[in-house]
Amino acid sequence: MPDVIVVGDGPGGLSAALFLAKNDMSVTVFGQDKTLMHKAMLYNYLGIPKIAGPLFQEISRGQVRRFGGEIQAVEVSRAEKGAGGFAVETADGQRHEAEYLILATGPSNPLADSLGVAKEADGLVADRYGRTSVAGLYVIGWSTRLKKIQAIISAGDGACAALDILSAKAGEDIHDFDLIEDEE
Ligand SMILES: Cc1cc2nc3c(=O)[nH]c(=O)nc-3n(C[C@H](O)[C@H](O)[C@H](O)COP(=O)(O)OP(=O)(O)OC[C@H]3O[C@@H](n4cnc5c(N)ncnc54)[C@H](O)[C@@H]3O)c2cc1C
Repeated sequence: MPDVIVVGDGPGGLSAALFLAKNDMSVTVFGQDKTLMHKAMLYNYLGIPKIAGPLFQEISRGQVRRFGGEIQAVEVSRAEKGAGGFAVETADGQRHEAEYLILATGPSNPLADSLGVAKEADGLVADRYGRTSVAGLYVIGWSTRLKKIQAIISAGDGACAALDILSAKAGEDIHDFDLIEDEE
């Protein structure tokens, strides 16, 4: 059983998965790479002068996998909260369970509705770490910012949620810092 299930494989979900996998949490991402990033040509992702959305997605998926994150190309059709965490059902009829659930499903979010996440005009309600009123359930990215969204914002949201989960597990605040000299 993974520690964390991430539903959605755009910049938000993949960023959360990268931080979690890199810090030794087991994480499974569900998504079929259908993000609208495939239409985007990015000139506004800080640190990258220009990149086509499909290449961004390919690199990001590879980064997650290199650190041991699993990506399953299947849609999640149901999600529920149970005693020890969350369970999701995929379109192929499989059931998967995890302690934490991150929903990063873009502008449409029926799974969050079914879990009782509050909504306002600009999307689902979450705090700045993506925490919802449901313990252990995070919503991030486009779903929470329907009117003003950029890829880098979703990626930042994913990082925030991951650091919050890592900190909760460790019982102390966690950063993910690496040093230049460690490369040498
Ligand atoms: C035409 C266009 C051009 C754009 N250009 C730029 C740009 O130049 N720069 C920029 O910063 N942003 C741009 N954007 C915005 C950018 O695409 C979004 O900011 C970004 O995709 C948001 O990322 P996200 O991870 O929050 O959501 P998404 O990218 O929408 O990812 C959500 C993913 O979850 C998947 N999913 C949904 N439900 C389920 C489910 N039940 N089970 C499994 N998977 C599910 C979806 O298929 C999708 O792959 C553009 C958008 C469009 C439409």
